[in-house]
Amino acid sequence: MWSLVVRAFVLSALAILALGCGASPHREPEAPANARRHYDGVDWAAAGDETVRVLREYLQVDTINPPGNETRGAELMGKVLAKEGIPYEIVEYAPGRGNLIARLKGSGRERPLCLVSHIDVVTAEADKWPKGKGPLSGALDDKGYIWGRGALDMKGLGALELMTMVLLKRAHVPLKRDVVLVAVAAEETDSRGIQFVIENHWDKLGCSHSVNEGGLGIKDLLVEGQTVYTISVAEKGVLWLKMTAHGEAGHGSTPVPGRAPERLLRAIAKLEGRDDPPVVHPSLYELASRIGRDVGGFKGFVLTRRSLVNMFVVDKLMESPPAKATLFNTVNVTGFEGRKEPNVIPSEVSAILDCRVLPGTRPIDLLVELRDIVGDENVSFELLDLMAANESTWDDPFFRALARNAVDGRDHVVAGPALSPGYTDSLYLRLKGVRAYGFVPFEVTQEEMRGFHGRDERVSVDNVKRGVRALYRAVLDVSAE
Ligand SMILES: [Zn+2]
Repeated sequence: MWSLVVRAFVLSALAILALGCGASPHREPEAPANARRHYDGVDWAAAGDETVRVLREYLQVDTINPPGNETRGAELMGKVLAKEGIPYEIVEYAPGRGNLIARLKGSGRERPLCLVSHIDVVTAEADKWPKGKGPLSGALDDKGYIWGRGALDMKGLGALELMTMVLLKRAHVPLKRDVVLVAVAAEETDSRGIQFVIENHWDKLGCSHSVNEGGLGIKDLLVEGQTVYTISVAEKGVLWLKMTAHGEAGHGSTPVPGRAPERLLRAIAKLEGRDDPPVVHPSLYELASRIGRDVGGFKGFVLTRRSLVNMFVVDKLMESPPAKATLFNTVNVTGFEGRKEPNVIPSEVSAILDCRVLPGTRPIDLLVELRDIVGDENVSFELLDLMAANESTWDDPFFRALARNAVDGRDHVVAGPALSPGYTDSLYLRLKGVRAYGFVPFEVTQEEMRGFHGRDERVSVDNVKRGVRALYRAVLDVSAE
């Protein structure tokens, strides 16, 4: 109770302080002149229409994974590139599991920039989608939406990247670096595509920077009327475990303490009872500050100060599961293994744990911590997979170019860095020293967001048209000679 009183007091004191306290919105520095002079070398009305056509066709190619068949998608991209005289190759890691690599040559003054996407999409229950707007329809409805599995995740950005290559080629822009299109297989299952490309064809990528899926623009995220682009700069790591409890087998009719199922339940309860303090990633302070500077007033005052973000914003974030997941090392029970007979107490029963690890925590240290918390020598942990979190700085020209072109000089549109609770192929690229950013230049409502892996995945024509221009200009800003 006392803390509420203290908070109320602090709040009112701050309200007084905040009167007349305004900071101007964050603005990225202007794009370099050598890039800007190419901005209007494109007929944007025609380019927008063409991008819509390409995306609709791409959505009609069945690359649902499993089984994937990504070579089909790569071949469609190849057809578009070949028409423009852009060289490309398709490299398969298994029959039908193709990855495409295409390149626009630059002078080599800077290392290449990679435009990365995955060709595969997740499964879709076609009969549950609206009639005529199915997952492989690429349908354009009368409200200006393009429908299909992958519209958001992520044939949408894939089509924008493809068209960026085409438009750069047509405009004969002299480049100071190679721009490399990398479209890969199998991201939705095991990331075999990007791993294969990195292991076997890294010499064709060699990029210092990349853009891939990750953040996007969300309308009314925190404040009505404000659109916030989260550009992901960091992704949590992975620790996948099988936790097995051991005990004496027995008959189900007679409860005896210390049997395996009971031990497993106790272990899970202990893991769920962990009470870590939230850890705020530095990107959250930066994003909050940018949002605050746009909002101004009292909210702005709070959002631009770390101590006040800790005091007032973190609690609010805890109410949203995805936001909360960025504040903790998480442990999620995702399955069980054991015998099925109702009257037999097995000697072994297991839980599968999907743990996600914040930047700054080594996955192996989390494993040690979990073992300590469980504190039962009859409960063992088997490591299924592990990958550390990683991150890229946002103090970077390409990050600034993405943010600048997302905002595009508009009021109440903000772009800032973010930590993603899940991981993408960017995690593998950062291991090669790439500064990898997650940025889809679409602005969506919370409702449209549900289309990700859902039954009504769609993207508006307006987003595709504005998005292709934003991406093209961001690439130009860091690549024009
Ligand atoms: Zn994706």
